[in-house]
Amino acid sequence: MAAKAKPRVGIVGAGIAGLRCADILIQNGARVTILEARGRIGGRVHQSEIAGHLVDLGPNWIHGTEENPIMDIADATKTIARDPEGRNISISCDGQLVDEQLTTKAAEFIWTTIEKAFEYSNHHGDSIPVERSLFDFIQEHVQKTNFSDKEKKLCLDSCKLWGAYVGDPIERQSLKFFRLEECIDGNNYFVASTYKRILEHVAKTALAQADIRFKQHVIKIEAPQIDGKHQVKVTTASGDIHDFDELVVTCPLGWLKRNTEAFHPRLPDRLLEAIKSISYGRLEKVYITFPEAFWNTDSNDTAHNKQPSANPVFAQFLEPTYTSHPKDIQWNQECLSLASLPTPCAHPTLLFYTYGPCATNIVEQIADLVEGSEKYNQVLTTILEPFYSKLPGYNPTSTSCKPTSILATRWQKDPYAGNGSYCNFQVDLTTGDKDIEALRSGVGLGPERGIWFAGEHTAPFVALGTTTGAYWSGERAAVQVCGKVGLGRIGVGVARDDSLPSASAGGK
Ligand SMILES: Cc1cc2nc3c(=O)[nH]c(=O)nc-3n(C[C@H](O)[C@H](O)[C@H](O)COP(=O)(O)OP(=O)(O)OC[C@H]3O[C@@H](n4cnc5c(N)ncnc54)[C@H](O)[C@@H]3O)c2cc1C
Repeated sequence: MAAKAKPRVGIVGAGIAGLRCADILIQNGARVTILEARGRIGGRVHQSEIAGHLVDLGPNWIHGTEENPIMDIADATKTIARDPEGRNISISCDGQLVDEQLTTKAAEFIWTTIEKAFEYSNHHGDSIPVERSLFDFIQEHVQKTNFSDKEKKLCLDSCKLWGAYVGDPIERQSLKFFRLEECIDGNNYFVASTYKRILEHVAKTALAQADIRFKQHVIKIEAPQIDGKHQVKVTTASGDIHDFDELVVTCPLGWLKRNTEAFHPRLPDRLLEAIKSISYGRLEKVYITFPEAFWNTDSNDTAHNKQPSANPVFAQFLEPTYTSHPKDIQWNQECLSLASLPTPCAHPTLLFYTYGPCATNIVEQIADLVEGSEKYNQVLTTILEPFYSKLPGYNPTSTSCKPTSILATRWQKDPYAGNGSYCNFQVDLTTGDKDIEALRSGVGLGPERGIWFAGEHTAPFVALGTTTGAYWSGERAAVQVCGKVGLGRIGVGVARDDSLPSASAGGK
């Protein structure tokens, strides 16, 4: 008797979700083809070099260390990841170093209030008005303290930098659905040696056993019912057509928002509503390298395991009055000193995080410029010099304080990244949790027509918008397909239950 043919499963996208999905499907006996628009794997997990050092253009944090498969992979691959503890400094709106006791007091208030906001959102989500923002919540709480007016203002100015976690201003962050920003328990670790080996590990099975087709930009996904049976037909921009029994679509939410008409027949209304309702954030990064870490004025360097160093690790620049910027755009910034990383990962580079309208404005300014060109460097230096020149040790005449290389991300110009960074949940959202559940279950699409969604925007609630969430979503979609076509469930991790709220705070 002839053996039963292996089901043919297509996956659109070779990011973490697609690669993990392929891994599980292959382990369970499916024949897997991955159609990837780019000429590489990884999607938003991607590295580039600055001044001879490898850096992550997408994620560089692991959010939550407990029972997090990405943390386990980091350990297994000897990836160096650490909680970058150390001195945090704030630069006031008029460009002065804020008294460090005050900075600590404001930071403690903000973290405690963020925890309270998660708790409030978890327990009162149903009754919280859709227009209430995270900022409203923090503002109300700061008014109830006995802080001085100066301290209250510092708390409110500092809390706005939480925008860099969600990828948009916190005045737009929904309080009702703030619980969907909550992360896995444990610390937030910075991946000092980059996500490179983590990606290689996740991709191993797919690279060895899937049929990966690069430069295959999918433009049409059809699911006709023929003789009561569905079939999935995928067309790429180059005109190639691929037929599958089942298809997993891992294109980012931002891509789905712009390409709902790629699906034939039309996507079910519930899925269209979900795609429209959830927002897509705008986080960007700028790496800027100097001949030496001039801000490290304390020669007692932690990288060499001596006493704790007084060198700054994080610097926050509150809404500045000392540099011009477009009206109505928040221009506050946050940077991390990569000189604070453990040896051998440390280098004299500052990593600036920009978000929301400010990130969009910066990306627009460099959109047409060649990376590394004189004009590109000049535009970015003009934007950032007002900030890094406020760091300790800065001397305008010293060559140590002149940048040698600058590298900025432009995810908002990248259609394959959905022209943004990751999903977020903004005010006026009414059914955010149900929207995510609809995308996961593929209501009216997966069981009926063989098309399933995966990707960070379909992750378990505790991991939405993260690499861990993308990884779990790939597993989940593989299990859905296996269940439907009658394959096993080998290699899938512990089931996760969304009804259990996690206790830890932390964004992307
Ligand atoms: C700046 C930035 C910082 C971040 N920081 C963190 C962090 O610190 N920690 C963290 O955990 N997460 C972070 N994230 C989020 C994290 O990168 C994502 O959650 C995760 O990488 C998403 O994986 P994915 O597989 O869902 O999507 P992707 O990685 O985007 O994979 C989708 C794949 O589909 C391909 N594709 C898209 N459209 C098509 C098409 N039409 N046809 C064929 N292929 C297509 C893309 O090229 C891509 O390879 C960050 C993201 C950004 C952008």
